Amino acid sequence: MKKIWMLVLITLLGVETYAQQKVRPVIVIHGGAGTIRKSEMTPEQEKAYTQALEEALKAGYTVLEKGGTSLEAVEKAIQVMEESPLFNAGRGCVLNNQGQPELDASIMNGKTLEAGAVAGVNRIKSPISAAKAVMQQSEHVMLVGKGAEIFAKSKGLEMVSPSYFIVEKRKKQLDKVKKKEKENKDKNTKSQWEDTNPDRKYGTVGCVALDQYGNLAAGTSTGGMMNKRYGRVGDAPIIGAGTYADNNGCGISATGHGEYFIRSAVAFRINALVQMKGLSVEEAAQQTIDFVGKLGGIGGVIVLDAKGNITMPFNSEGMYRGYINADKKMEILMYK
Ligand code: ASP
Repeated sequence: MKKIWMLVLITLLGVETYAQQKVRPVIVIHGGAGTIRKSEMTPEQEKAYTQALEEALKAGYTVLEKGGTSLEAVEKAIQVMEESPLFNAGRGCVLNNQGQPELDASIMNGKTLEAGAVAGVNRIKSPISAAKAVMQQSEHVMLVGKGAEIFAKSKGLEMVSPSYFIVEKRKKQLDKVKKKEKENKDKNTKSQWEDTNPDRKYGTVGCVALDQYGNLAAGTSTGGMMNKRYGRVGDAPIIGAGTYADNNGCGISATGHGEYFIRSAVAFRINALVQMKGLSVEEAAQQTIDFVGKLGGIGGVIVLDAKGNITMPFNSEGMYRGYINADKKMEILMYK
């Protein structure tokens, strides 16, 4: 009899320790997809992108290691990239057809399916933090323009003037794209949205993380597409298009030609294939990118599930991307 009780006790203790066992954190980021070719990249540029991606990954991973949540890690990693002028998010974002920045961002909690987003803002220093504030401190999912800015200010977020986001490089790119647009119009051929335009880089940033508690979160932040029409909103702030997270499926952040990503409900499609059809994240993401490609859309996604499986497919020439996996292995990639 005594032996049986001992056995029961040992089993219970075992279950308890198992329950307390932490999940090994994982973080995946992207810094946009597009025409990224090794032949056109100088060693300095390559180094700068590598360093910035590394900094973002490490910042997010440190949050996770210290016991922070996946939401906090996603916010942190994205903030680092928003502050870097290299990416099309926060400072250094692309400009609309009026030469103005208009930023979009979204974030989602894979445990609760809560989500938040902002669109068409240019006075909130960190759009991803504003998205998180909408999720946690309002009863809404998405706020746009002035309303979003008034809300962000009322919650104590740092505000800036629109000029904070504008860097010289983007003004030059806008001029080039506008010139090309005019040429195309004259020739009555391709539109300015033509994806073969070499200046078409989708430098949006995104992050998906898995924390010690087994919870996923995903977020995306962008300036949209160069020379976009004033008021245009892309996929990045749309839950189910540019961002989605569900612990029972996976977390996704997308980058690419937003119109196609919205029409394909890219992020939700990947999650649905994983959750409802039992596909692996690799299969689900590849099928979805193939689907977008058939429609004519170019771009990529980063995907992570609650078991720590990572996939990062794209149909563009390259995609800035990287991860730190459950074994703490870090990798940064740019090309095919
Ligand atoms: N997906 C973004 C948009 O369409 C652009 C990007 O990924 O860079 O707004």
